[in-house]
Amino acid sequence: MGTTTTQLAATAFDSFFLQNGEFGGEHFRNHVELVVDTLADVLQDVDRPLEGKTVQDIQQELNGILDLSEEPQALHEVLREIKGPVIKNSLHVSHERSMAHLHCPPVLPGVLAELIIGALNQSMDSWDQSPAATYVEEALSRYWCGRIGFSVRGDGVFTSGGTQSNYMGMLLARDAFCRSKWEHIVQRDGLPESFKKMRVLCSEEAHFSVKKSVSQLGLGEKAVVPVPVLDDHRMDLDEVRRMVEQLEQDGLLPYAVVSTCGTTDYGSIDPLEGLADFCEEKGLWLHVDAAYGAGLLLSEKHNGKLAGIDRADSVTLDFHKWLFQPISSGMFAVKDRKHLRLLSHHADYLNPVEDEEEGIVNLVNKSIQTTRRFDALKVLLTLKVLGTRLLGSMVDRTMEVSSFAAEELGRREAFRVENPSPELSAVVFQYQPEGSLDVSDLNRKIQQKLFNEGTAVIAKTSVRGETYLKFTLLNPRTTEEDVLAVIDEIENTAKQILGGTPH
Ligand SMILES: *Cc1c(COP(=O)(O)O)cnc(C)c1O
Repeated sequence: MGTTTTQLAATAFDSFFLQNGEFGGEHFRNHVELVVDTLADVLQDVDRPLEGKTVQDIQQELNGILDLSEEPQALHEVLREIKGPVIKNSLHVSHERSMAHLHCPPVLPGVLAELIIGALNQSMDSWDQSPAATYVEEALSRYWCGRIGFSVRGDGVFTSGGTQSNYMGMLLARDAFCRSKWEHIVQRDGLPESFKKMRVLCSEEAHFSVKKSVSQLGLGEKAVVPVPVLDDHRMDLDEVRRMVEQLEQDGLLPYAVVSTCGTTDYGSIDPLEGLADFCEEKGLWLHVDAAYGAGLLLSEKHNGKLAGIDRADSVTLDFHKWLFQPISSGMFAVKDRKHLRLLSHHADYLNPVEDEEEGIVNLVNKSIQTTRRFDALKVLLTLKVLGTRLLGSMVDRTMEVSSFAAEELGRREAFRVENPSPELSAVVFQYQPEGSLDVSDLNRKIQQKLFNEGTAVIAKTSVRGETYLKFTLLNPRTTEEDVLAVIDEIENTAKQILGGTPH
């Protein structure tokens, strides 16, 4: 009886795996075609970034398909089931009027690389689980280090994104400081006695992951000192100097500065060269968060905005923001590879000391992850298929459209633009009609109504406690006409809302 069940099962599960030989190839092709057909069907019908359904509608549709059964169900049937409720009801990030967050339309080579990544399922922790992939990632790390301007001493590792890269930057900065200040090894001995005095400075508009990382690293959120920004939303360098001096006078220990290279909201770039000079002078660790600004590394026109990035001790780059990669794809880079050793931990089964002696590369040494995706392949395929010049010009194009958007909004009476000369590709603005009313509430309603109708997806953010609207233009296919249409839509929507409210 037991034997029969096992034999039955063997034939039953066979077809769910990748298989070798002539049959294997055909088998794979048939399955992929089903998926391609499903997606193609949906793409054909997409005419707005969102379907414009209510949360209740979406939940109800999902309820119909989320019951799980003990019995297998044919792939084509399951695909048919999820086509509407999941695929169609998604936010269509590749639509030209999807312009809310730092959430990019992925380029096809990146999307297709995901299929290869999944099918090969290499793990980047030890060389024997990714014999070729390890060297692809190494080559790409070197490539990006070169783009940053690091010497051969630079090194990097792929990460899940900016949050993880910032965490790594804050970890290395903490441990390097404890080592040089007290010869204290945090990895072995935990936090030093004076840890409560340690301080990191960053812009008050830095990404929240900086604070979160420092807090998770045991130093507490209060170890992060927010530095005020100037009107252009760049960190005030004079304030950095003044605050470091003040901290020192108070007996505290400032040890690192985070320079945001492209803030999430405004794309504003902190004064990199000045910060690099200051950090050098004071012996502070400089971490550059270029999760957004990384796109500029390929721009021939605008990469001067990153001048000084090569002087950072560590850098965060995201490829899934302004470099058109599917999530997730990011990198952490350091100017001096010796610092990555602060991360390594020898596990006999993954990275035995003998491997290192023989020159075998086990990337687990450089990462805070163990099993890790072969995301470098997406970046390789994209760089090769598109070429770096075209990629750079795609970044330039989004900047062109952003300048246009800022100008156009500035021209229209009822709008106030918070960053009239956008540094990157984000424009923050508010609709401010004549008359006294709750402007924040109006802007919130505009954003919500556009979202609910699905005609355009824009973001809202808070400026000095008020609700503002935001375009994050990451799609080089978004044109001036698209922007005009969305601005018109905002005006019309506002009028509808105001028309419906007696005041
Ligand atoms: C998005 C962003 C991050 C976080 O990156 P994830 O890839 O979302 O983890 C960090 N810093 C900045 C400036 C960002 O814009």
